[in-house]
Amino acid sequence: IVSYKDVKKSFGDVHVLKGINLDIKPAEKVALIGPSGSGKTTIIRMLMTLEEPSAGEIIVDGKNLWHMEKNGKKVPANEKHLREVRGDIGMVFQHFNLFPHMTILENCMTAPIHVQKEDKESARKRSIEMLEKVGLGDKLENYPSQLSGGQKQRVAMARALVMRPKVMLFDEVTSALDPELVGEVLEVIRDLAEEGEMAMILVTHEMDFALDVADRVIFLDEGVIAEEGTPSEVLEHSDNERLQQFLHRFR
Ligand code: ATP
Repeated sequence: IVSYKDVKKSFGDVHVLKGINLDIKPAEKVALIGPSGSGKTTIIRMLMTLEEPSAGEIIVDGKNLWHMEKNGKKVPANEKHLREVRGDIGMVFQHFNLFPHMTILENCMTAPIHVQKEDKESARKRSIEMLEKVGLGDKLENYPSQLSGGQKQRVAMARALVMRPKVMLFDEVTSALDPELVGEVLEVIRDLAEEGEMAMILVTHEMDFALDVADRVIFLDEGVIAEEGTPSEVLEHSDNERLQQFLHRFR
């Protein structure tokens, strides 16, 4: 469903990603781990079309993110093409990015109505369904400021789910939360993972969670994939020295 082909990214003369090759199958759950600055966020921001690769290609569900075919030639993608591919991808950030002046129900309804041009009633119905799924069916008319961090993060998830993405991206979604709120957010992600329909890419520092939920763990180090495999292979049985140093900090 997602394919990175020799993707490179530089900011000025800082080479952040030095050739990433990565194929993610439909419904596969991938945990992305690595030291601060190794390029994890950059990898998923490019998938969200928030950042353009300096070289290489990213394909989502058969569609090339940054290029399109026109008259048999490859040309840079236009806005319409980008809008189409963005619809396949949902993202939840470290900071929740909710609209403060809207109720949580309105927060969920706005993209289906304005981006997907869905009618209001069906957007409303699905938003309620998704808010119930994340355990917030009794908070529909509340405003973000009236919710805890964990609840806000669950709204952010419902809002992404309403768009029916084929791929969901989670970027350190628990790292801004108080420790006692982490569990409820991980629980929702775990439930989504068990439903199994969407591919998921999780940037996380929760190693036990990765071990539990991911089908595959990828260790990113200095802009390359330095190790990958099943959670047990990478987190428990790898002899990669940099990975060992990195994991040591979490023990
Ligand atoms: P962390 O775990 O700290 O979030 P990360 O692995 O997600 O780190 P990235 O956020 O992808 O790392 O950043 C990788 C490198 O790219 C960092 O050195 C960062 O300073 C640099 N970088 C990211 N975005 C930009 C930008 N817009 N302009 C310049 N440098 C950037």
